[in-house]
Amino acid sequence: MVIDENKPNTASKVASGIINPVTGRRIVKTWMIDDLLPFVWKEYNALGNKLGIIAIEQKTIVDFFPTPQMKLAFEKRFNEDPQYLSLAKDPDQWRSIFQYDFDFGEITPSYLINLAEIIPSWRKNLIGKQQLLEEAFDFNLLTVENDIVRYKNISASKIIFCDGINSSDNPWFSSLPFAFNKGEAVWVEIDGLGTDHIFKKGFSLVPWKDNIFWLGSSYLWEFTDDKPTSGFRQFAEHWLRLSIKLPFKVIDHRASLRPATLERRPFVGFHPLNNNIGILNGMGTKGCSLAPFFAFQMKEYLLNSVPIMPEADLQRFKKVLSKF
Ligand SMILES: Cc1cc2nc3c(=O)[nH]c(=O)nc-3n(C[C@H](O)[C@H](O)[C@H](O)COP(=O)(O)OP(=O)(O)OC[C@H]3O[C@@H](n4cnc5c(N)ncnc54)[C@H](O)[C@@H]3O)c2cc1C
Repeated sequence: MVIDENKPNTASKVASGIINPVTGRRIVKTWMIDDLLPFVWKEYNALGNKLGIIAIEQKTIVDFFPTPQMKLAFEKRFNEDPQYLSLAKDPDQWRSIFQYDFDFGEITPSYLINLAEIIPSWRKNLIGKQQLLEEAFDFNLLTVENDIVRYKNISASKIIFCDGINSSDNPWFSSLPFAFNKGEAVWVEIDGLGTDHIFKKGFSLVPWKDNIFWLGSSYLWEFTDDKPTSGFRQFAEHWLRLSIKLPFKVIDHRASLRPATLERRPFVGFHPLNNNIGILNGMGTKGCSLAPFFAFQMKEYLLNSVPIMPEADLQRFKKVLSKF
């Protein structure tokens, strides 16, 4: 049974859905990426088949170098480990469409998760099976007795909170070291760009649907609210005018808070004082790859007693959570 109030502008509804195998200025491999890529490819394809949609697609990231130093860093990394990197065969390939000064490299495979279709299709699927209670969760109505969790007329052996940034208000988990991070994006209509590539030039320009592209995003550790700002909008339009030689039209602008954590690792597992109450959260900037992987670990733990990976297991916060 899923209890979800269908909040607008949750992180999953504002995210672009990229799974990028490399990260940072030194272009190092993303945490666990060699295991994550084959896992998510299989799982999202199975989900897509079940829902009758395309849930995952392979894309090439075109990484325009912002400075000559970044070009050198990419080439150095390519020489050390070319697994996910390639150098441009024709450095002028994108000149008729993009304005760029220092060539580009390619990152492949990267995956794009079709969040725009997965989220509503999965909701429809749950409604069809009468497994969705669409309302705000009220902690006052949750009781646990003799290993049975009760909420309104629902009785279960476990409850698992996957409530994103709202876990910081959750009496069981509010002491976990969350470190929310604000991100904004705009949606832009651009004809003639094609949908096989994700373009990265500071911002990422990501195929969304037909001729609509997602452009983002910001990463703010300090913010006063989760609302879109005129500053970001102006910056995004400036980026478009400077970077793209095709006509464009901004059609939407949204913001959200990422459920990031201080030590950049997720929170997965059960409360040390009550193993009927669990959490799957703290996915930060990588929910598309980490969420399915750790949901599977949670399932394996529950059904087959397979331990959860220590870096993600909630037991590492045993001390702080035991003060509950
Ligand atoms: C601008 C931006 C770009 C991003 N880009 C990417 C990307 O390209 N790739 C990537 O992997 N990740 C990306 N992320 C990060 C990604 O979005 C998150 O890691 C992921 O969406 C977190 O998912 P979640 O289910 O934990 O939380 P959420 O998406 O916030 O979902 C929480 C759910 O809980 C429900 N809920 C919360 N409180 C209650 C309550 N009290 N009662 C009932 N229901 C409740 C909400 O309705 C919602 O459905 C991006 C994030 C942002 C903001």
